[in-house]
Amino acid sequence: MHRKNQNIYKDTFFLIIIISFIHTLSNHTSITNKSKNLHQTTMVSTTADKKVDVLMSGAGPVGLFFALRMVFMNHTFKIIEKRQGACHETRAVAITARTLEVLHNRKLANCILKKAMTLQGTQMFSNGKKIAQINMSAYTIFPHISSLPQHDTEETFADLLGKDHISWNSKLIGYKQDSEGVEALVQNVLTGEEETIHARYIVGADGTHSAVRKLADDWSYECYTVGTKFVVGDAILEGKDSGQLCESRENGFFHPEGVVGMIPVEISEDGECYYRVFSNLGP
Ligand SMILES: Cc1cc2nc3c(=O)[nH]c(=O)nc-3n(C[C@H](O)[C@H](O)[C@H](O)COP(=O)(O)OP(=O)(O)OC[C@H]3O[C@@H](n4cnc5c(N)ncnc54)[C@H](O)[C@@H]3O)c2cc1C
Repeated sequence: MHRKNQNIYKDTFFLIIIISFIHTLSNHTSITNKSKNLHQTTMVSTTADKKVDVLMSGAGPVGLFFALRMVFMNHTFKIIEKRQGACHETRAVAITARTLEVLHNRKLANCILKKAMTLQGTQMFSNGKKIAQINMSAYTIFPHISSLPQHDTEETFADLLGKDHISWNSKLIGYKQDSEGVEALVQNVLTGEEETIHARYIVGADGTHSAVRKLADDWSYECYTVGTKFVVGDAILEGKDSGQLCESRENGFFHPEGVVGMIPVEISEDGECYYRVFSNLGP
């Protein structure tokens, strides 16, 4: 097995195999302002007083997608992200038909499809034998799964946005709000310098441990976490049974002690297929 990268997650892992930015958007994005509802509010650009309409904390898929919507709606905005660029870990990979439909409605599907591998469905194995095959053939203009590592999705969206909108290495460390808007304190994680950003709204797209949520007194986290060990890595696979793998399908190997999944993610320059290999190792 040639290893490309491998991470073992010992803490919290949410076992969601199929990425759905719609789901993620509706559940992970928290918007705070006086009315807590962006869509019912007519926003007027306030760049004259050096305010942006929207300050977003976090440049993951949700923050970047949200920012592209802001461009489309002509709102001024700024994204702050504590990392120095797109995520480098092995994270989400499979993009569903419904997510592509949502992206397509916002003219964003093509930039994903240009880079993604197209998977026709899933095949499942047990005890050395193929036991099932699922074909993607739903009523959709995208009857397939698109395989694209999360860092590629993030880079694609970040490139579309342009570098002026994203402040990398910038961490939200505090904010206060009143009826006029939000005053946020942002720290450069490299230099320690702090700056204040004024915005009419602040959007928490900063993940499960959202600073926007934690810095607010009256917000609680209503979900729970499950501690488990998970192994995941991108690899070229060789040896016994590797001939059964299909480069245009997700592959699942079922065993009484657990499941190993292998999703094609990339064809290398010399024609070898990298698979995202993952399995839950238990608590
Ligand atoms: C191994 C693994 C595999 C996964 N596989 C899948 C999958 O197949 N399908 C799926 O749907 N999901 C999967 N997920 C989950 C998926 O990665 C998340 O659902 C997705 O990243 C959530 O996007 P987000 O933009 O809400 O948050 P995130 O991607 O977590 O982005 C939040 C961003 O906010 C930044 N941030 C945090 N705090 C601050 C702060 N104070 N100031 C500035 N920036 C801040 C973080 O650096 C981060 O970049 C996987 C996760 C892991 C770890």
